[in-house]
Amino acid sequence: MPLEIATIPCLSDNYAFLAHDAANGQTALVDAPESGPILAELEARGWSLSHVLLTHHHWDHVDGLAGILEKHPAKVIGAAADAHRLPPLDQQVSDGDTFEIGGEPVQVLDVSGHTVGHVAYYMPQSSVVFTADSLMALGCGRLFEGTAPQMWASLSKLAALPDETIVCSGHEYTQSNAKFAVTVDPNNTALLQRMADIDRARAEGRPTVPSTLALEKATNPFLRATDPAIQAHLGMENADPTEVFAEIRARKDRF
Ligand code: ZN
Ligand code: FE
Repeated sequence: MPLEIATIPCLSDNYAFLAHDAANGQTALVDAPESGPILAELEARGWSLSHVLLTHHHWDHVDGLAGILEKHPAKVIGAAADAHRLPPLDQQVSDGDTFEIGGEPVQVLDVSGHTVGHVAYYMPQSSVVFTADSLMALGCGRLFEGTAPQMWASLSKLAALPDETIVCSGHEYTQSNAKFAVTVDPNNTALLQRMADIDRARAEGRPTVPSTLALEKATNPFLRATDPAIQAHLGMENADPTEVFAEIRARKDRF
């Protein structure tokens, strides 16, 4: 049975996630932006934490951890590469490592780019990947530490997961990402349809996260650097996808 996923809005535009195994009662939290909403969600559902998975060191993904651990003394897992700047870890993981939550394997993917040491957690049996600030809904994280080739490699790794994979990313930036996406991919009907869906969801106060990998591949310009229409629109026909990605990222930074 797939794990039950709960999406928890935190701070002004962050998301944390709970992944719960009904069979054995284990529950993993992915990222800890702030303790209040996460503790409230656990209480409302009657779940207690067994694991905390950290994606990267930014404060808006870890600052709630201490307050959560006071009530839920869970095992904290994060990247070995980031151990020096993450809260204390009980288990350090690296690209290619696998561990288990509730009897289900969790694969660690290095997705450096936004930061160097950022990891994603992929649970193939539940078809869900936690990407935080790497692949985001209609976007990708800003390149604070890594390079464009590094982020393109990370996004390509995520794009190779099965289409039906549920993408749990770290922020509600989708509506502003859409305004940018349409400037580089103006004739993409799937994108225009998604923009309408996003506007409706936000008007009704609903989150636009999670999404699916199929939808991201069809509409997210940062996964579409090989797309001939985008390349033509940028005047970069047949260019190296890494260069096309770098140009799209640079334009977004100026947008
Ligand atoms: Zn971040
Ligand atoms: Fe963030």
